[in-house]
Amino acid sequence: MALDLKLYDTLTREKREFVPIDPRNVRLYVCGPTVYDFAHIGNARPVIVFDVLFRLLRHIYGESHVTYVRNITDVDDKINARAAERGVDIRQLTNETYENFKSDVAALGCLPPTVEPRATEHIAEMIALIERLIASGHAYVAEDHVLFDVPSMPDYGKLSNRPLDEMVAGARVEVAPYKRSPTDFVLWKPSKPGEPSWTSPAGIKTPGRPGWHIECSAMAWKHLGETFDIHGGGIDLVFPHHENEIAQSRCAFHSDVMANYWMHNGFLQVEGEKMSKSLGNFFTIHELLADWPGEVLRFNMLRTHYRQPIDWTVKGLDESWKTLDDWYWVVGDTTGGTVSGKVLEALADDLNTHQVITVLHQVRNRAQAGDDSARAELAASLRLLGFLNESAAQWAARRQSSPGVDSAKVQSLIDARTAARAARDFKESDRIRDELAAMGVVLKDSKEGTTWEIAR
Ligand code: AMP
Ligand code: ZN
Repeated sequence: MALDLKLYDTLTREKREFVPIDPRNVRLYVCGPTVYDFAHIGNARPVIVFDVLFRLLRHIYGESHVTYVRNITDVDDKINARAAERGVDIRQLTNETYENFKSDVAALGCLPPTVEPRATEHIAEMIALIERLIASGHAYVAEDHVLFDVPSMPDYGKLSNRPLDEMVAGARVEVAPYKRSPTDFVLWKPSKPGEPSWTSPAGIKTPGRPGWHIECSAMAWKHLGETFDIHGGGIDLVFPHHENEIAQSRCAFHSDVMANYWMHNGFLQVEGEKMSKSLGNFFTIHELLADWPGEVLRFNMLRTHYRQPIDWTVKGLDESWKTLDDWYWVVGDTTGGTVSGKVLEALADDLNTHQVITVLHQVRNRAQAGDDSARAELAASLRLLGFLNESAAQWAARRQSSPGVDSAKVQSLIDARTAARAARDFKESDRIRDELAAMGVVLKDSKEGTTWEIAR
């Protein structure tokens, strides 16, 4: 509890000491996926980063004293289009995609959030917010739409701090004739025939559906209250999504604050380029998991501080895998232990996972030099960070399941080498090691015996 947690707040543009509203219930909201297709590795970044924050908060305040809400956006144009394209029911598409998302992020070592609310199950809350906004003069009805009246909020735009003309030109702001001001945004819109629809608010006759921004204000309100501690997401969400969430929630509740800390992760690019389908460098979490253990993807993500851009490369993944191989091997079957104080310090400094990894290399070296408490520290620290979800034997076995290597033959050669070493026939034992190396097998000798893996 003596840990001095500091978080960078996008709204005040400074790293500030984290003081929860209620330490017995620390409340975190993160914008979740729109469920129409497999999530890509860029989407994995906020999931992993805020999982680390969730774990740190649980460590500091106690497991039952943190509420983490990450929503599911299951009503959206992209969903309608994809369902039509595939000829499947919308609910089937969103359920299927959500199940895939859950298993992908579980494989990345992420804990399930406390609540994963679905937008379509919170329409009543959205309508309640919209009615409040209309009643207080912050929203109006025009051509079966309900729009938020941006000029009605004098300090709109503080989060993104953009000049008004830039906001109007912003790619995701739709200019439409029925808007009083070009910056006004949609809270509710009419549904076209065949699209999901609900009874509209404000006496609008045409059935309709919610805009994207109101979803998050409604779900955060329902599960965390009018004001809560931390709101997170990717940097691309600052404007307009989070700016508009703030406008809706603050104006609906007549409050100065929606969340006390706004945290945003930087963007991920692949091999130095923006990830895009047309460049052929677009990777889903699902397809990467076929080639790399989930913990390797997680580790690779945490090597870079969450606010920096990250360059996702195969070279980085290879290095991440080698480091984890080594740490799994050093940890072995160690259980227990306390988390390294320096690891906690680095995490408390605005989640400096880059520094955490530097510290862990030092702890690993102490452990390898025979310091058993360092070994236990390494184990406990890695567990806090969401690693070591497999036993050392399971982890090592992954390396041995490479196609083209006959593991029975490898084991018999290792046994022959062990026998040669026992007979002090080092010439023969070296010959066998070279024979294995030619097969692409690397040996590791330790007190406990010899293990092996496929060289990469
Ligand atoms: P979306 O489904 O596009 O709304 O994205 C879901 C989450 O992933 C949001 O928090 C985005 O900010 C984040 N995100 C999307 N693309 C990337 C990327 N390339 N790098 C980092 N975060 C991303
Ligand atoms: Zn959101």
